[in-house]
Amino acid sequence: MAMLSVSDLAVSYGAIKAVKGISFDIDEGEIVTLIGANGAGKSTTLNTIAGLIKPDSGSIKFSGEELVGIKPHKIVARGLALCPEGRRVFTHMTVSENLDMGGYTRTDAENKETLELVYEHFPRLKERMNQVAGTLSGGEQQMLAMGRALMSRPKLLMLDEPSMGLAPILVDEIFEIIQALNKNGTTILLVEQNANMALKVAARGYVLETGKIVKTGTGAELLVDDDVRKAYLGG
Ligand code: ATP
Repeated sequence: MAMLSVSDLAVSYGAIKAVKGISFDIDEGEIVTLIGANGAGKSTTLNTIAGLIKPDSGSIKFSGEELVGIKPHKIVARGLALCPEGRRVFTHMTVSENLDMGGYTRTDAENKETLELVYEHFPRLKERMNQVAGTLSGGEQQMLAMGRALMSRPKLLMLDEPSMGLAPILVDEIFEIIQALNKNGTTILLVEQNANMALKVAARGYVLETGKIVKTGTGAELLVDDDVRKAYLGG
């Protein structure tokens, strides 16, 4: 059984149909990527899985249980966390206060242990634990957003555009961390406009165009696919 199974999912904003009946799945231990141009429906898909948007129709099963209709905090408690696009850290709070917020579904004792794990993956956050998040660099804020999502000890971590706006060297660093998290047992659903990097680390990928999945394959297959190269990899 797939860890996450999305079937015939349709989502709209008023009259705008953003996601038009998509189906995909993720097995435990995989990195799966959704790639696509601006407005293809990638963020809408992640936000719907996280329970932030109610779909028009379709089903989202996580470990066999339906998520549609479940409140976002309950979805987090079941082991599914979202690191949103644009990071959305609490700018007036310190690094460690932001991380505490991520652990709100868990006990203090659990959070103490998880915090050590997060600081192992992100030593830079440990150095800056008392710094106000709004003064962190873009890359550090991305690390904080990821660390905050990890505080809920997700089985499945959804990352929305983690490389957005980062200098190439930081993009490399973020992708290394994504791979390390996966090696440590976290299944990952990765939404990226940096299709090249995403397909290199992903076991499988799905290509989303105007709300529909138009292609799927292994990361390696999609990297050499002519259509994908033309549309998303610069020829
Ligand atoms: P990007 O990479 O630019 O974030 P995306 O693939 O994540 O794109 P979505 O953000 O999911 O795409 O948007 C899908 C479609 O839904 C777009 O046409 C967008 O304009 C529309 N949309 C997204 N959010 C809203 C909203 N709150 N109200 C109305 N339309 C929306």
